[in-house]
Amino acid sequence: MRLGIISGKGGTGKTTIAVSIAELEKASIRVDADVDASNMYLYYDGWDIDKEYFFGNDIASVDKDLCIECGKCNEVCRFDAINMGDVNPLKCEGCGACTLVCPNEAIGLVEQKTAEIYTTEIPNGKIFRADMEIGGDGSGLLVSRLRKKAEKYETNSNLTILDGSPGIGCPVIASITNNDKVLIVTEPTKSGLEDFIRVFKLAEHFNISALACINKYDINEEVTNEVEEYCKDKEIPLVGKIPYDEMVVKSINDLKPIIYYENSKANHAIREMWKEIKENYVNMREEF
Ligand code: SF4
Ligand code: SF4
Repeated sequence: MRLGIISGKGGTGKTTIAVSIAELEKASIRVDADVDASNMYLYYDGWDIDKEYFFGNDIASVDKDLCIECGKCNEVCRFDAINMGDVNPLKCEGCGACTLVCPNEAIGLVEQKTAEIYTTEIPNGKIFRADMEIGGDGSGLLVSRLRKKAEKYETNSNLTILDGSPGIGCPVIASITNNDKVLIVTEPTKSGLEDFIRVFKLAEHFNISALACINKYDINEEVTNEVEEYCKDKEIPLVGKIPYDEMVVKSINDLKPIIYYENSKANHAIREMWKEIKENYVNMREEF
């Protein structure tokens, strides 16, 4: 069974909920597909058992001994990524146009390492995660690579919890495809509602069945009502409403999942939500 936890944008509490559900169910596979801000592993005393490099787009590389500073590369680069043979790796898209116009064959394309991929062993299973280079591209391909690595450890009886990339771009598409369900975490703000609608439409487009939960629902009950109306209209099961709870901030600072705070309102709401999901919406024995 694979459950992706997603949100239309960052900061909705997606990781708090992903870590909580993973803990409640002792999920043996956890994929941190939020590759731009990977932080799931911080909650555990884990140890890395595997590391590999991920290469994104090729980028231009110039042999300075051959460069005659003619400036032809500047003229052809529509990304403003090269200047008299000096390449800005943060801007270069690896299109190769400069290699075609260079009169002295001074430019070639080389692989660029954009991330390291780790498999981290934790007490109840494994986390698959990436550590991006500064300026690296959190691409869908990187998320797909993480998921492929995780797949090798999946069995018919274990649970995979995937903490998805925010937004609606390629990384989130790679986060939601091939899940049995996604749980969309939203918050009751006008922009949160718009983001929720966008990411729901994305899931719908890819035929992935979606559930919804509203985090901090009580900070704006008016927008919460709008989210509820939208869910009703689109027949999206609203499986949880989690109250604002300052203990969540403490749990993030302590790097301890919120479900271990007995007096936390959010803890109890998340537990109720997971009970509801398990009883009515997921088949834990579902085969991959
Ligand atoms: S086109 Fe080639 S030779 Fe001319 S400036 Fe660029 S790298 Fe140098
Ligand atoms: S490969 Fe394309 S993007 Fe990169 S420097 Fe050359 S022309 Fe610009």
